[in-house]
Amino acid sequence: MPEDVVFSLRDVYFKYPGSDEAALKGIDLEVQAGEWVALVGSNGSGKSTLARILNALLIPTQGACFILDMDSKESENIWAIRSKVAMVFQNPDNQIVASVVEDDTAFGPENLGLCPSDICEKVTWSLDATGLTEYRNKATYALSGGQKQRLAVAGALAMTPPVIVLDEPTAMLDPQGRKDLLNVLSELHMQGMTIVYISHRIEEILSCDRVIVMNEGNVSWDGTPRDLFEFGKGIEKWGLEVPPIVRLWSMLKNAGIISKEVQPTKDGVVHALCP
Ligand code: ADP
Ligand code: MG
Repeated sequence: MPEDVVFSLRDVYFKYPGSDEAALKGIDLEVQAGEWVALVGSNGSGKSTLARILNALLIPTQGACFILDMDSKESENIWAIRSKVAMVFQNPDNQIVASVVEDDTAFGPENLGLCPSDICEKVTWSLDATGLTEYRNKATYALSGGQKQRLAVAGALAMTPPVIVLDEPTAMLDPQGRKDLLNVLSELHMQGMTIVYISHRIEEILSCDRVIVMNEGNVSWDGTPRDLFEFGKGIEKWGLEVPPIVRLWSMLKNAGIISKEVQPTKDGVVHALCP
């Protein structure tokens, strides 16, 4: 396998114990280093299960999952995989381990065995990146849902991992918080981090390189955000909604008011209309 392949999944099935139906049904997927991949799909389509497979928290019940060339089935690879692939869970309460914000953020780098000055530097940087600096010495139980979500992201970023998997990290954030997080991810992406970003807000995927649509435990579509939006209302068959800006972009494009090259983003449309 070439070194620049981060995830390589071959015919991956996963069935939860006691469940009649598999949650993942034959996933074939390859993610290259430095890609920013969005994972979208309706509730129950298997996004969170796949995220856990990518972090070796779940092991395929059939098929193979190689993470940075390490087979997740081999127990001696688990620590190395988890130290390279940071994970932000859908529910931040599942991730908070310490009673004070800075201790919680330091947990990951401490486990990596970094020296105290490096840990302090990473904690300071990740709290700043997630807008939590003023909460550094606050109790974690007193944080709001959105602040807990930022803390979960801060803890993952503090490990400065080469790969990060985020499972609906903006569900509890306000619009500014969502924008801030996407800006941070955009910066990390430019620095070469590989990002797998699960979102139920389809407008958030516009900054990604690639979108994977999950449906009933399988990959139904794989391509660029722009190509996905060329389907228009066709994406509703996967339980996805067309964002308002994309609807406007389609109408203007079909009416010949903007050219086919314009990107389906607010900036793209505004710039095309008022150059
Ligand atoms: P998504 O994140 O896209 O909403 P999930 O991966 O959470 O989807 O769920 C995929 C399928 O697996 C669903 O049918 C869900 O009910 C089932 N499932 C998820 N977690 C569990 C679990 N812990 N035990 C049994 N079934 C589960
Ligand atoms: Mg989920």
